[in-house]
Amino acid sequence: MPTLSVESLLRASSLRLQAITDRPRLEAELLLSHVLGCPRIALWTAPEAPVTAAQAQAFRDLLERRAAGEPLPYLTGRREFYGLSFIVTPAVLIPRPETESLVELALAWLEGHPAALVADIGTGSGCIAVTVARLAAQTRVYAVDISADALAVARRNAAQHHVAERITFLEGDLLAPLPEPVDLLIGNPPYVAESAWDTLPPSVRREPREALLAGPRGLSLLRRLLQQAPAALRPGGAVLLELGETQGKAVARLARDSFPAAEVRLRRDLAGKVRFLSVQLP
Ligand code: GLN
Repeated sequence: MPTLSVESLLRASSLRLQAITDRPRLEAELLLSHVLGCPRIALWTAPEAPVTAAQAQAFRDLLERRAAGEPLPYLTGRREFYGLSFIVTPAVLIPRPETESLVELALAWLEGHPAALVADIGTGSGCIAVTVARLAAQTRVYAVDISADALAVARRNAAQHHVAERITFLEGDLLAPLPEPVDLLIGNPPYVAESAWDTLPPSVRREPREALLAGPRGLSLLRRLLQQAPAALRPGGAVLLELGETQGKAVARLARDSFPAAEVRLRRDLAGKVRFLSVQLP
């Protein structure tokens, strides 16, 4: 059997992934570095390095699963978010780049409120809660999720990033499990319309339905969350939520209903799409 090199495997596998992703080479590199247990840069510095038959087989198995539509982070078990590496499993939504902008808004707010009490609603992998706890070192954080399996992943991420002692994990529906009002409510709740499920990319449909879908217009959880929010906030507190790009007006109206005296704003992501709600209480 001919010896396989890193580069020959990558070349063949990039072709295999072309139909499923617009970044086939990157994904092939991420899978191969995962199988070889080396950083991706090692693939560039030693493209002629030999790969054992067992490693090549393990790599091809993952490649076929990826080609069949499994999301890459579920295959490697990892996803980068805000410069940190997170454990992900099929029990959690895969962290998205647009949610990094939500974290940025939170960190900016926390500069003026460094010792704030924060609640991340629908924490999933814990990417928001852990990043905030890690980068705003005086905060205490409640991380809430209705899924015990998701909370188990979030706990592992908190431990891995050494912030477990400042995060309290709570299982339950939206704000119901919070034991006290907080200064900052943050979250990326499900906001996809049920009718849109069939139009989602196949790999997105491998993610937990309950992390994505929220009623006929995608608003049912954002609505309930905003209805519950006034009782869960301290004076001077704030709300920061992610939403769908067509939902700005409707969500801003829900926020004004709940918080008539607050400053309600819609914010855009880096692609210029309306994507976040901010509410600042007086
Ligand atoms: N932004 C996600 C998507 O693209 C949706 C995340 C959510 O529902 N909170 O599908």
